Amino acid sequence: MYATTGNLRLVQKINRSLVLNLIKDKGPISRADISKTTKLTRSTVSNIVDYLIQKDLIKEIGLTSSGVGSRAILLKLNSQAYHAIGVDLGTLHTTVAITDLLGRVETKMEYPTGCQKDKDKIIEKLLETIHNIVKSSGIEWQKIVGIGVAAPGLIDKYGTMLITPNFGWRDTPLGGILRKQFHIPVFVDNNVNAMALAESEFGAGQGVRNFVFINVEMGIGAGVVINGELFHGKNNCTGEIGHTTVDYNGPKCSCGNNGCLEVMASGPAIAKRAFSVSAKVAKIIPVSLGKDCTVIGAANLALKEMLKITKVVTFSNAGSIR
Ligand SMILES: [Zn+2]
Repeated sequence: MYATTGNLRLVQKINRSLVLNLIKDKGPISRADISKTTKLTRSTVSNIVDYLIQKDLIKEIGLTSSGVGSRAILLKLNSQAYHAIGVDLGTLHTTVAITDLLGRVETKMEYPTGCQKDKDKIIEKLLETIHNIVKSSGIEWQKIVGIGVAAPGLIDKYGTMLITPNFGWRDTPLGGILRKQFHIPVFVDNNVNAMALAESEFGAGQGVRNFVFINVEMGIGAGVVINGELFHGKNNCTGEIGHTTVDYNGPKCSCGNNGCLEVMASGPAIAKRAFSVSAKVAKIIPVSLGKDCTVIGAANLALKEMLKITKVVTFSNAGSIR
């Protein structure tokens, strides 16, 4: 049971998060329009806006240019106030990028992952690259809200890579290693989930509340977005559709079973079948973000967390955003 003051504090945090996200998505926007959209009173909006300006998260950018009545000051997200690090730890290549608060890539470094090398070397190279990219960007560490990592295989909610068949790894606590090294929030998720998140926020999934993102490469994986959020399911393996048997008499799969989706399906075959089932419900939208899709999604794992109420709690309690 929460104390009344606890409830008030929670409401305050939810309202701050609501206003911040509205400015991020709909800005430039006036205080009056924020009040109208959120149904919060003008004075509540005004207090929250003052707080967000003081935290450097939003800024005033001049007046509305047209319309009847008095002109209002517009507010927008200060996208340069803070940054996120995105990592795409791929089987062949690794990309490390820094994005602004809107998930736009500001700088990136790429190198061959070298999955034949041992685990320690791969992790050591990743830590070194993160240090180097921050150093060369000139961005201060306290301006970085977190690190998001997109990695292959099955990953738990703490960021431990439980099973990574492509690398031959098991139980690698990558999230823990990065947190210990950099002392900032770290979020590790499956790479197809990161791609689905990137498409949801910035790409073909914008404005679509519920969709399934299917990635067809060497394997087949899916990312499920429900109500605009990634859906992980009970064991964090919702998208692991590649080894679902579709034909018991089909060819042998690398997992030992027969006729898995992964050995049966190709991109064109899926498209053809989906359209033949129902042209009405099956709409296939190609990836719109290209090569940076995964790394943008990875950075957004950290950004999305920052914009949630749990992180707004941190804003109000600490002197800085961290
Ligand atoms: Zn299989």
